[in-house]
Amino acid sequence: MGSGQVTDWQGKNVTVAGLGVSGIPAAKVLHGLGAKVTVVNDGDDARARAQAADLEALGIAVRLGDGATLPEGTELIVTAPGWKPDKPLFAAAREAGVPVWGDVELAWRLRRPDAAPWLAVTGTNGKTTTVQMLASILEAAGLRTAAVGNIGVSLLDAVLGEEQYDVLAVELSSYQLHWAPSLRAHSAAVLNLAPDHLDWHGSMEAYAADKGRIYEGNHVACVYNVADKATEDLVREADVEEGCRAIGFTLGTPAPSQLGIVEGILVDRAFVEDRHKNAQELAEVSDVNPPAPHNIANALAAAALARAYGVPPKAVRDGLRAFTPDAHRIAHVADLEGVAYVDDSKATNTHAAEASLAAYESIVWIAGGLAKGAVFEELVAKSAKRLRAAVLIGADRGLIREALARHAPEVPVVDLDRTDTGAMLAAVQEARRLAVAGDTVLLAPACASMDMFANYNQRGDAFAEAVRELGAGA
Ligand code: ADP
Repeated sequence: MGSGQVTDWQGKNVTVAGLGVSGIPAAKVLHGLGAKVTVVNDGDDARARAQAADLEALGIAVRLGDGATLPEGTELIVTAPGWKPDKPLFAAAREAGVPVWGDVELAWRLRRPDAAPWLAVTGTNGKTTTVQMLASILEAAGLRTAAVGNIGVSLLDAVLGEEQYDVLAVELSSYQLHWAPSLRAHSAAVLNLAPDHLDWHGSMEAYAADKGRIYEGNHVACVYNVADKATEDLVREADVEEGCRAIGFTLGTPAPSQLGIVEGILVDRAFVEDRHKNAQELAEVSDVNPPAPHNIANALAAAALARAYGVPPKAVRDGLRAFTPDAHRIAHVADLEGVAYVDDSKATNTHAAEASLAAYESIVWIAGGLAKGAVFEELVAKSAKRLRAAVLIGADRGLIREALARHAPEVPVVDLDRTDTGAMLAAVQEARRLAVAGDTVLLAPACASMDMFANYNQRGDAFAEAVRELGAGA
């Protein structure tokens, strides 16, 4: 099971690690190809048993409650991307010389010989948005495409299903990239790089190296963020195909081989004839929805990948115009008494919240939740001048309160001292009291939601609901 496609799966002993969104379909597909599949799973709860029963009915072996032992005779492990590399199962695999593939590697190896090329996107924040913008642009160019990865179509479905694609817009997480050694994209972008998931990767260096894998073997373009030097360094370190170009995107005026902004216009100085003299207009900033700085950066990255694939300028504009962001990503909920209420519940880490706060001039900030080890000093210091006030909720709000006291002592802070679900209504009421006409009340928690809500969707819904209640009572 070295490099290249595996054409004969008949009788191959494959261990699938992890019952879950990637493991179950992987087990079924491999079983369907004739492999002898054993699924191993750490958990042994009622849900796992029900899933195991379904697989066993198909003739797939399942071992519950033991994800550590390498089943005898294993020739290949296909792991759920979230499994940590330091697990004993992988040490045993290394010892036995057994390769380990993640879900992306499996899809890559199973794709048909005439399969659609991949335009791949990773980064700490903005992946989903950028991939969706890219798919919208490719569609506007009349190409058969899909946004694939965490969103929309699953990777296995995209490469094995009935639907024929010309090109795929693929979102990849750092975990998935870690387990995808032979992936070779047509072109790829790393949007940004901020500390995240470091407990999984072990260090910032390891995290960056895994993200950098997305550039390995690129054919046409490695797209990087001019404002984030770490992404450019990754391009430099990557081993790419002869002729593959490094393409930067910037919110400033683009240099040759970059895409950027000139007087409110998205401009391409990379994929044009004589890039030292010429530039191609692609779209207006107002075509990007919402036109927040970080989102314009996402649009430029999507445009760069589309242009690398040969998409004409008009399709970039049409695709960006047709794009609407997913819920809870800088979603404008309502205007009340001249104050805008914006739901960016998806800002679950400090890097995302910083981008979100940079998009508005005067903000009443609703923040807090589970910090996951985050430090708020830099976020607060950089955003202080934009803060009219802050309203804090959630388990780790004390950390944000302390950062505000240190770096923005003049900003009024309301600490709600609550973690119940109803606290969101109280937070919105407080925010309304503090806001003046022209302000934005922004839910950008910089924290995960699980202390108070099932997920960020529910948190954003609670915010929107509270704003509606306020509106109804106004
Ligand atoms: P991901 O798929 O990487 O989680 P999303 O597109 O879902 O990214 O956006 C998640 C959040 O990250 C958004 O709600 C926004 O707050 C923030 N965000 C989006 N794009 C960027 C960016 N380019 N830089 C920083 N933060 C961003």
